[in-house]
Amino acid sequence: MRFGFDVDDTLINLREYAFHYYQEQLGKRVDIDIFHALNRVEIHEAFELSDEEGKNMWNRSLDFLYFTDCPIYPGALELLKQLESGGHEIFYITSRPPEHTENTFNWLIEQGFPVERENFFCGMKDAEKVGIIKNLELDYYFDDKPAVLDTLTNEPVRVVVKDQSYNRHLDLPRVKNWDQLGDMMNSGRK
Ligand SMILES: [Mg+2]
Repeated sequence: MRFGFDVDDTLINLREYAFHYYQEQLGKRVDIDIFHALNRVEIHEAFELSDEEGKNMWNRSLDFLYFTDCPIYPGALELLKQLESGGHEIFYITSRPPEHTENTFNWLIEQGFPVERENFFCGMKDAEKVGIIKNLELDYYFDDKPAVLDTLTNEPVRVVVKDQSYNRHLDLPRVKNWDQLGDMMNSGRK
């Protein structure tokens, strides 16, 4: 089968990594419960930043957030390796800005992700993911972001949402922990 994965906040815990980084950078302690209650993807509200300030803070943090030690969700790497050794094809579809394509590919390799150049797509807008997912004729696609998931509801691909505080309103198959996924796919097999 053909499996597609978003990267940030699907396979790796980027927002929470950013949340800790912002605390250091801004010299401000914020309770983790506030992070877990955020109902949008952006995290700057937890630091009482405006949308404009938040966007600037995010953009100037990207090199650090993307290319240092952002934690991978437990079980994610093992699952992808298992899928690969089971003969499945794995695709990565990330809307990180295009200038970060090369470094993102290399970072994934360094972390041990089974990724090939031709299976790695980066730099598209959220709304452009659907076209790539259609062309790839994926069996499954995993993402966290409502703005992306909303574009896929009428497509034949089986969409699975990676559970996050800001996507709980979506009525889709949901994965909370990557090590539970095997059971879910076995029960929903075509
Ligand atoms: Mg994401």
